[in-house]
Amino acid sequence: MLSEPAVLLWGVNALVAMTIAMAKDRSAAGWLLLALLAGPLAVVVLLCLPSTGHYAAVRLEPEAMELCDSCFEPVRRDRHACRYCGAVQFAKAMPR
Ligand SMILES: [Zn+2]
Repeated sequence: MLSEPAVLLWGVNALVAMTIAMAKDRSAAGWLLLALLAGPLAVVVLLCLPSTGHYAAVRLEPEAMELCDSCFEPVRRDRHACRYCGAVQFAKAMPR
């Protein structure tokens, strides 16, 4: 049976995986679950995976980003809804 500190470390590890996943614009809930199942291995795999490019887009193409109307977080112009608060971006350029 696992001791209490080990359970705590497992949980912290899962939260670390979730944080990295969010930083890489990946599924936070998915990686949290995966880290709970696979432990530190999930963190190692996650660190090896490339970012999906959200933050690279913020750095390299600021013109491709626009601030959310509701929460003022940067939102990609080609997305219809804010990834932070879920607000639909009505005023943003939608291809038509
Ligand atoms: Zn928002």
